[in-house]
Amino acid sequence: MSYQKVSNHRQCRAAGSLLGQLYAQTMVQSKACDQFGQLIGLETQYKIGLKRQVNGLSVSNSHTEVDHDIAVWSNKGILAMANEYRVGLGYDIHRLVEGRKLIVGGITIEHDKGLLGHSDADVALHAVTDALLGAAGLPDIGDLFPDTDPAYENADSGKLLTSALAMIAERGLRPNNVDIIIHAEAPKLSPYKKQMAANIARLLEQPEDYVNVKAKTNEGLGPLGHSDAIACSAVATLVSADA
Ligand SMILES: [Zn+2]
Repeated sequence: MSYQKVSNHRQCRAAGSLLGQLYAQTMVQSKACDQFGQLIGLETQYKIGLKRQVNGLSVSNSHTEVDHDIAVWSNKGILAMANEYRVGLGYDIHRLVEGRKLIVGGITIEHDKGLLGHSDADVALHAVTDALLGAAGLPDIGDLFPDTDPAYENADSGKLLTSALAMIAERGLRPNNVDIIIHAEAPKLSPYKKQMAANIARLLEQPEDYVNVKAKTNEGLGPLGHSDAIACSAVATLVSADA
């Protein structure tokens, strides 16, 4: 896949032409910068929903450096915005049961119980994967890697995350930062936070300080507080693969 960033007036016109051919019969004529702006705006509104871009571009009758700078397109016709972040939210929960290994954030943790699931039930990697997929506008982890598929029985969730990253890359996007809260009464996960963050950063091919792991108890309340389950919430941002 190739990407091109619009950096001047001539390329802006060319992009208008290219996108016109790709997307809309009525847009084939859209070669002027102002029309290109409207085209990007419509696409943005439709596919990405970045209101600010839509507003910024659709009202513009003449190009500006900013207008030129934000447009990135791929040869698959999927738009990503340079200098923009896409945010995704992920959440997961698994029961704690006897006879299973406890794996959280890709780290095996000593405990008398483990998380129940079709795959390795890594609650943290599942939440992170869903956050990243959500930010890319892709289907969620349950849709992509169904627990009815024997191929994913006891699957390493790190591999599922890597597969999701490949789909995200096809959209011209790459991970930026991830922030995670693991909700667990027992075992205490604080001693493992740094190791988990380092492992997730490795999977994302990001610096370690772009991944933050927090561990919280549930103050003894509900199934989480009674150590019947471990849950994880995650927020992730994606940026253009060009950024
Ligand atoms: Zn899960």
